[in-house]
Amino acid sequence: MKAKWNSLIKLTRTKLILALTAVLWLETLMVYYVDFRLGIEGPLQFIISMFNPLGFVLLILSLANFFVRKKSFTISLMVLFALETLLLVANVVYYREFSDFISINTMLSAQKFNGAMGKSIVTLISPHDAIYLLNLILIIGLPFFVKNNLVSTPIRLVSKVALTCLSAFLIILNLTISEMNRPQLLGRTFDQTYIVKYLGLNFYMAYNTASKVNEDAEKNKVTTIDIDSPLQEAAQVYAKPNKKYYGIARKKNVIIIHLESFQQFLINMKVNDQEVTPFLNSLYSDKNTVSFSNFFHEVGQGKTSDAENMLESGLFGLPTGSLFNKLGPTNTFQSAPAILKQKEGYTSAVFHGNVGSFYTRTKTYKSLGYNYFFDQGYFKQTEDSNVGFGLKDKLMLKESVKYLEKLQQPFYVKYITVTNHYPFDLPDEDNDGFVKPETSDNVINNYFLTAHYLDASLREFFDYLKESGLYDRSIVILYGDHYGISDDKNETLAPLLDKDPNEWDNFDNIQLQRVPFMIHMKGIAGRVDNEYGGEIDVLPTLLHLLGVNTKNYIQLGTDLLSKQHDGNVIFRNNGMINKKYTVTKKSDGSYNIYDNKTGELLDIDPTSDLYKKIAKKYEQERHLLDISDTINQKNLLRFYTPIGFKPVDPTDYDYENQVEQLDKINNTLGNSSTSMYSQNNNKSTVSMYKTDAPESTD
Ligand code: MN
Repeated sequence: MKAKWNSLIKLTRTKLILALTAVLWLETLMVYYVDFRLGIEGPLQFIISMFNPLGFVLLILSLANFFVRKKSFTISLMVLFALETLLLVANVVYYREFSDFISINTMLSAQKFNGAMGKSIVTLISPHDAIYLLNLILIIGLPFFVKNNLVSTPIRLVSKVALTCLSAFLIILNLTISEMNRPQLLGRTFDQTYIVKYLGLNFYMAYNTASKVNEDAEKNKVTTIDIDSPLQEAAQVYAKPNKKYYGIARKKNVIIIHLESFQQFLINMKVNDQEVTPFLNSLYSDKNTVSFSNFFHEVGQGKTSDAENMLESGLFGLPTGSLFNKLGPTNTFQSAPAILKQKEGYTSAVFHGNVGSFYTRTKTYKSLGYNYFFDQGYFKQTEDSNVGFGLKDKLMLKESVKYLEKLQQPFYVKYITVTNHYPFDLPDEDNDGFVKPETSDNVINNYFLTAHYLDASLREFFDYLKESGLYDRSIVILYGDHYGISDDKNETLAPLLDKDPNEWDNFDNIQLQRVPFMIHMKGIAGRVDNEYGGEIDVLPTLLHLLGVNTKNYIQLGTDLLSKQHDGNVIFRNNGMINKKYTVTKKSDGSYNIYDNKTGELLDIDPTSDLYKKIAKKYEQERHLLDISDTINQKNLLRFYTPIGFKPVDPTDYDYENQVEQLDKINNTLGNSSTSMYSQNNNKSTVSMYKTDAPESTD
């Protein structure tokens, strides 16, 4: 019987490799659809995900072909197949625990890895894992199979090369189609999940390792001069706090509200005779708000994450890509959550309606020293609770309260809203009757609709703050992270801003990079401040309000409220703006200088003193970006720890089971617990939150 079966199957080496490739291919697909949550949308992404495991698996197994002797071929094929199986299984187990993929860093820092494996293994195992036993049988059975069933005719070199070339071709095809569906997939990695979804686990591992080697090479190229000079230059950037404001918010709760894609022009704007953002308008001119009318975003390709890293670390984003993605998990930071915890005893948290892997936030927030991170997984999901980039703002804000109320006070929390994000989708049931404008571009029209929705969400949130009493104990910071309408759409937008599209130019584009920055606190002497500033200036401003001396920290902005504030704002891409001029640098090294009052391009003689003065200022500001890049890319803060500051250990934080962690702290502290929940006699304040969101039932 056995002999018969043996003689029935005769395989060449190539066919054997193809058969084993097929096994791994099908198993990977099972993993994609059963274990991972890749967020595959639409037919093209489906097709890409179906084929992406193929090329790399084939490439790896085909390497065995290059061993001529039968024994070497067999052993190498066993090893390669076993490694591929291990990669898959380890990722499945790791994903079940961390909702993330194994990176080279995870493997190197075995601590985390063991953490996952140390958990009760039963909870990480699922019935369909039995399939992997097949691989075990295949690995063990391979030598016997080869002995009886492999045809002995030697394989020709041309066939070996052909198979490897075929796999390489499949990988390139995969890359090309993915790049078409998702331009700059690798240049601007938003989310590791995207790389796996489009290019597969093998590619992710290879890419991740290559990036790590690159970054390490950069970090290790450090000389004493490298360390000293950028840090010393950066340490010079400092503005003395304004006595009138220093410490006025000491020990208050800090609530940072990230207004997604929100531009300043929305403030006080009317469309069809209706205010777009009535609540934010009222806040803008409230007697308890210091509002800035000339505040600019300074983000580069890292968009939202660039804004976050400027606001919290006081350094700029990178020239390309997102710092959160590239360096967030491994770099050393001295950022707001850690400084406030160590100096003033703050507890910190982030609330966000998207998944935690986006912009590598789950890892980066640990490096920043955030105690808690409540991402999408912490909020109730229903069929229509999500739109575009995640949970609708009204639902996220309301649902956050059950976590917020359990934080020890004072707390430092950040809310990252998502509904006002490109492509600005808003379901009809969430529109309270706002009539959007009718330009020829629906993205522009919808932008006003989602901004209006965000505004209404914030009104509900502020109502809750007042109702619960939190309002009196908090300082609220609101800021727009970057533009929502890109430059190429501005001519279509122009008529809504009472501008002539035919006269629209780069000067106008730069003026539109204004975003809101508001400091709201009961008792602050409110006003609209016309000082020029940008996102890099927020951290020293906030720390001074909270009474924290920033002299010893490496921060590249200056306190907006200080009399010594530097009112030159440098942009990450190109350009600088200050009270008088808007300046851009041309490719030939000369400058375009516009007069802010008239918007006219000035005809200044390049040899004149004025031109030289402006050019010098521009280069000085531009140099700050270089200093920032050196500090970040070489991870220089690891060599400098400010006096009285303790470096952050990311492994101190665990964003799983956070409810249990909070309850434990509240219970342990008992009467001395300062959470709202404890102060409310262990009763929830959730019922104080009123929303008109159609999905919210309680
Ligand atoms: Mn954003």
